[in-house]
Amino acid sequence: MNIHEYQGKEVLRQYGVSVPNGKVAFTVDEAVEAAKELGTSVVVVKAQIHAGGRGKAGGVKVAKSLDEVRTYASEILGKVLVTHQTGPEGKEVKRLLIEEGCDIKKEYYVGVVVDRATGSVVLMASEEGGTEIEEVAEHSPEKIFKEVVDPAIGLQAFQARRLAYSINIPNELVNKAVKFMLALYKAFVEKDASIAEINPLVVTGSGDVMALDAKLNFDSNALFRHKDIVELRDLEEEDAKEIQASKYDLSYIALDGNIGCMVNGAGLAMATMDIIKHYGGDPANFLDVGGGATKEKVTEAFKIILSDEQVKGIFVNIFGGIMRCDVIADGVVAAARELGLSRPLVVRLEGTNVELGKKILNESGLNIVAADSMADGAQKIVALVK
Ligand code: ADP
Ligand code: MG
Repeated sequence: MNIHEYQGKEVLRQYGVSVPNGKVAFTVDEAVEAAKELGTSVVVVKAQIHAGGRGKAGGVKVAKSLDEVRTYASEILGKVLVTHQTGPEGKEVKRLLIEEGCDIKKEYYVGVVVDRATGSVVLMASEEGGTEIEEVAEHSPEKIFKEVVDPAIGLQAFQARRLAYSINIPNELVNKAVKFMLALYKAFVEKDASIAEINPLVVTGSGDVMALDAKLNFDSNALFRHKDIVELRDLEEEDAKEIQASKYDLSYIALDGNIGCMVNGAGLAMATMDIIKHYGGDPANFLDVGGGATKEKVTEAFKIILSDEQVKGIFVNIFGGIMRCDVIADGVVAAARELGLSRPLVVRLEGTNVELGKKILNESGLNIVAADSMADGAQKIVALVK
């Protein structure tokens, strides 16, 4: 789960990570009021959306007077920001962070991530702050330094110090940087984050080390023990179809293709997307209805797929092990009856109760194209949507 920058900074502040003072604003008047309260000569007006790259897209402006705050706030609120992380459709700005202006001497990068290769939490740092770390990784990977954290003892001060020296934090500020990294790591672990990215971390003119940006992402499997974090969820930032899916405990991820997929099992769902691609099509979603799905759940899943206007055809690919083919068939028929089905539907069923499942589909009166295998089904649906 993602949260906004201002919320992330609030969480980090609780752990003693140094961040600038700031306030959230939902209207232009609130923005001006917040700037007044901050009382600094320079304030920064920052768009709050669940995506980075706001600076380049015009979503971060430095204001030197209350009039400028008003101008920038009215410019940015309601604007659709298109950044490399929003996709081409962009994201509408509905909240602003009004933050005290910071006298930046130099920008760095610090990130805490879960590293699959080592199976550990890794602290990464670079002198190339402000630019995306993916770009640094591509063009100058030697400028990224990493420390692998032993989970039994946590991040050690010497590791943080080694990183601080590697990225050339000024000597007199190394202790502050160490304190910063240790606090960031503690926040990451205690809140069950999956990413804590500070880009940029800055050294200021007055000798502070602070987070000017904060991207926190949380492991949804651990949210049950973080009520405070769940409260920060902003549903307006999430895909409506994904919200609906999460209500029914369905693993659904919206994609931008036009073939809706209904599959059981994450592995089979991945393979289904691959094979659609292989035959020249584009999947509209990842969907794993799970092993023990009920008819209601399957119906809901099918409705979510149909609610996507981009979907030109649907491929149901079920290998019934724990999942029974007749339950899937019942769900598909129920949803199709309720919503009407005018788009092509290819079904490949195999496994438990397959004959019963096929019978239900055949007798439903729906226009269903049966497939003999996964490859056959993929080819058929790709041809039908073309
Ligand atoms: P994004 O990563 O989405 O572009 P950032 O929060 O990193 O947004 O802001 C982009 C840039 O704007 C930063 O790299 C920094 O140079 C500048 N900036 C952000 N916040 C402040 C601030 N409080 N004071 C001064 N400059 C800032
Ligand atoms: Mg940033």
